[in-house]
Amino acid sequence: MFTKILIANRGEIACRVIKTARRMGIRTVAVYSEADANARHVRLADEAVLLGPAAARESYLVAERIIEACKRTGAQAVHPGYGFLSENEDFAEALAANGIAFIGPPAAAIRAMGSKSEAKKLMGAASVPLTPGYHGDDQTPALLHREADAIGYPVLIKAAAGGGGKGMRLVEQSADFPDALASCKREAISSFGDDHVLIEKYITRPRHVEIQVFADTLGNCVYLFERDCSVQRRHQKVLEEAPAPGMPEERRRQMGEAAVAAAQAVGYVGAGTVEFIANQDGTFYFMEMNTRLQVEHPVTEMITGQDLVEWQLRVAAGEPLPLRQEQLQIRGHALEARIYAEDASKGFLPATGRLVRLAPPAESLNVRVDTGVEEGDEITPFYDPMIAKLIVWDETRDGALARMRQALADYQVAGLTTNIDFLSRLVACPAFAGADLDTGLIERQKDFLFPAAQPVPRDALLVATVGELLWEQHQAKLAARASGDPWSPWHARDGWRMNLSAARTISFRDGETLVDAQVRYQRDQWRITIAGQSTLARGRKLEGDRFAVELDDRRLIASVVAVDDKRSVFLQGSTYSLLRDDPLHRVDAGDSHGGGLTAPMPGKVVALLAQPGQKVDKGTPLLILEAMKMEHTITAPAAGTVKAFCYAAGEQVADGAALVEFEGE
Ligand code: ADP
Ligand code: ADP
Ligand code: MG
Repeated sequence: MFTKILIANRGEIACRVIKTARRMGIRTVAVYSEADANARHVRLADEAVLLGPAAARESYLVAERIIEACKRTGAQAVHPGYGFLSENEDFAEALAANGIAFIGPPAAAIRAMGSKSEAKKLMGAASVPLTPGYHGDDQTPALLHREADAIGYPVLIKAAAGGGGKGMRLVEQSADFPDALASCKREAISSFGDDHVLIEKYITRPRHVEIQVFADTLGNCVYLFERDCSVQRRHQKVLEEAPAPGMPEERRRQMGEAAVAAAQAVGYVGAGTVEFIANQDGTFYFMEMNTRLQVEHPVTEMITGQDLVEWQLRVAAGEPLPLRQEQLQIRGHALEARIYAEDASKGFLPATGRLVRLAPPAESLNVRVDTGVEEGDEITPFYDPMIAKLIVWDETRDGALARMRQALADYQVAGLTTNIDFLSRLVACPAFAGADLDTGLIERQKDFLFPAAQPVPRDALLVATVGELLWEQHQAKLAARASGDPWSPWHARDGWRMNLSAARTISFRDGETLVDAQVRYQRDQWRITIAGQSTLARGRKLEGDRFAVELDDRRLIASVVAVDDKRSVFLQGSTYSLLRDDPLHRVDAGDSHGGGLTAPMPGKVVALLAQPGQKVDKGTPLLILEAMKMEHTITAPAAGTVKAFCYAAGEQVADGAALVEFEGE
């Protein structure tokens, strides 16, 4: 076995690999970019090497720097994680040439599966069932269009080099094909440097079912059953589970054996995932093979009781697979939710910022949290905005669902927008709870998943008010201590005034609504009146930002986290957002970013879609911005005229930069 390995990745997966290595007594070397100098994976590793600036192509993607780091530290093997260089055959080859082991498959297997079209040719030859479609070399647009017509609409155009849900276009009718092809090729070039595409019949209401396979260098290959990853947004997985609900034993065996055949056809070694798309009747087709450890591997670990990273290390060191097929068994049910910094209600727009509060649920045999960040860390625009993976296990799917609901309710994050509320609704939605799964679930359930904003409930407003009062008391105490006269009445913030009936108003903004809380101090309690209704309140600060509150005859535990004027109220498993409204610093609410024609985040202008001087209707797409691995279309805020574009295609823009000069009618 190796005594020292280097992990050529960051975030949760780097931390996850370090954990197993440490348990096995293997020392670890982390690599990092300038933006990650204090990242959790750097703190956890035994040593760490700086690669370069924040941008991945100048740090995590520079193979030579990583090989150099291995030589400097004496690392004998490299674990690539997922993303970055994990599916880069040149990297695998370069490591081999330098006598360093790659904890992954042979370069030839990566190459064989690297192109979705080449992979389909090989799989066809190995009798693995394929999605009907065109995966030929001739890329003439007219020919592709004819092929799409012959397959019959709807079709999916896919970048052969694509991954992570990028470079795919659904085409509903022949007339839309040319535009979709152009836009798919544009994204494929900018994301993968290769605009080769294939076309597939679009399966309606499909399920995404994938098989975890494992092979060793001695010719053994097993499958560790399936994962159902049907719950997706924009072809990206949101919830994953194992086993797949409703999977008959016979079908499981068929899919497992097809996946093993796929792996063996390319001389596979190590951990891999064969992804299938399945019809509701269970018939399945090969989609692609991911030649690495998958993001969602923990659900497989939870139901098999195996540590897949340990398996990877053993296989890479030349050992046989730890178990044979007949020794593997499924026990119970596991679910994973990807916790992202993003705004689900704004088209899953990625968010950045500091994790002012990050308190995940307590880990146990039933709850696992894989994360690369800690409280105080920042989610930057440079990398994937995933905060953590929350994995739960129980004997049954219903048990696991209950665990997931509870764990999401206990998850506290403040400082940036997350998808936690969205995930809570998703696991509660009847279609998911009832395992009525297909890749369109989120779209179909959008009324349930994206309800109109509800007003913040009265209890949360009362708690927020008490939070302000306790905070003021606490500050006053600190000031008094600093002033050397702790008993000075001038520091008292208990409402003591010369006139005995001190009253004041504390105001919040709940969305567009202004909420006034009138506070009257009465000895050791407050009378708080909101919307004409009064409550007697008391509060006592506990550790950190937690406090105990009494509201009339009820007792609650709550926390309020403040960042500037933002207040996140955590109360009984829900999070509520308010703004503290200070009348002295009231900003004009109409003063927003010039009608949305500014960059929502730092990124690159990919394409200009209108001409300067052109008259457009409201909603006309004007420009495509690529940021955080996604394309965002900037549209006209109203009918009007495009005066000028501030950037050319290919240029980088800063967060908040004006993109278009626009004149409304
Ligand atoms: P799939 O490719 O089938 O969507 P996964 O869900 O396992 O498989 O992975 C999602 C993709 O997102 C990865 O292939 C990778 O390209 C990208 N990705 C996710 N996290 C990271 C990360 N931390 N660094 C770089 N790329 C990432
Ligand atoms: P990626 O490399 O980006 O993961 P995949 O080929 O694995 O690309 O496809 C990603 C997702 O797109 C699938 O999980 C599925 O939801 C959807 N998808 C892919 N192919 C088809 C198809 N032929 N019909 C319907 N949906 C598809
Ligand atoms: Mg995929």
